[in-house]
Amino acid sequence: MSFFREEFAAQWPAVRVRFGVGVRHDLVAEIKQLDCRRALILTTPEQAHVAEEFAGLCGDYAAGIFTRARMHTPVAISEEAAAYARDIEADCLVAIGGGSTTGLGKAIALRTDLPQIVVPTTYAGSEATAILGQTEDGVKTTLTSAKVQPEVILYDAELVRTLPVPMTVTSALNAIAHAAEGLYAQNRTPLTSLMAVEGMRAFRDALPRVLDNPDDLRARAETLYSAWLCGTVLGQVGMALHHKLCHTLGGGFDLPHAETHAVVLPHAIAYNAVAARDELRPVAELFGHDEPGMALHRFALSVNAPMALDGLGLKESDLDRAADLAAKNPYWNPRPVERDAIRRLLQAAWAGDPPVA
Ligand code: NAD
Repeated sequence: MSFFREEFAAQWPAVRVRFGVGVRHDLVAEIKQLDCRRALILTTPEQAHVAEEFAGLCGDYAAGIFTRARMHTPVAISEEAAAYARDIEADCLVAIGGGSTTGLGKAIALRTDLPQIVVPTTYAGSEATAILGQTEDGVKTTLTSAKVQPEVILYDAELVRTLPVPMTVTSALNAIAHAAEGLYAQNRTPLTSLMAVEGMRAFRDALPRVLDNPDDLRARAETLYSAWLCGTVLGQVGMALHHKLCHTLGGGFDLPHAETHAVVLPHAIAYNAVAARDELRPVAELFGHDEPGMALHRFALSVNAPMALDGLGLKESDLDRAADLAAKNPYWNPRPVERDAIRRLLQAAWAGDPPVA
């Protein structure tokens, strides 16, 4: 199929991307290339040992370590981290981790303008976007700014080998969601569609191999390659119903990020396939079913993904309010967002049923 469009506009940020097993060992060279010499290293508490390893890699180029990155980027922690960066006179940030740690790096960059090197250890894709979600007083807001776009990304498959298998699956489906929604985005370009298809293809082929052997470095590298492609799509185009539903469920009901994406994806795609059948044809073809939503449902089953919002802590009595919230201020979507149809979608996703259009 062709991804030709009669009109489109594309603007790519100047991001340096390096890919390779062991590429983290070139960290000091990358810091020097930015004309920097005092790196602040960031991780979550769970990955504090990785921060220590990176401090060792940086030697004299490590100015400090901050290991309190948290899901949804709480503003209070970002303020503290930015103050610490100023105190130690950091001149660049090195964020090692998933979307939470990348989010902290972006939040510090927003406040200090420091350049960022991101070393992703999940497939969430935040490293490839100029988007920052922050939480304050229980409210999550999102902004887009060139200030938060990371300057350098180092993809090193050795670092995703430790990602637990359940999170490997949900994080991969989180990434596939960026690609699937990218296919029908209003502002898609031929390049984003090509990247979306290749990103999904590579996950389809590599993820089962990772599940067979989570230490398979070649398969892990292929999943990281997929994540880069899918994340780059996320950074280039607008997202629609699927992401709106996940933001609603994450922000309003405190559901976990990647797991929610994994459960909702087949349902949101089935909903939109009615209006975007041609655009979603690659999903149907790649995952082997005429209906793109069913194709993703079967793939999710085959990789033992969580299938029901029920298991993620959402109560059945929450579904009405979730439908109301999701239908309010919808993102642009190929099919009109109708509250009652969304309520049916959520019911199926809650129960773990196959998707309905
Ligand atoms: P995460 O960063 O919250 O990581 C989850 C847990 O897994 C953490 O404890 C982390 O330390 C641990 N972990 C990460 N990689 C590991 C590894 N290789 N081995 C062992 N443990 C590891 O999870 P996530 O799904 O990557 O990120 C979710 C957050 O990112 C959400 O807040 C979401 O909104 C945000 N996000 C933002 C964007 C964007 O463009 N702004 C894109 C995607 C996600």
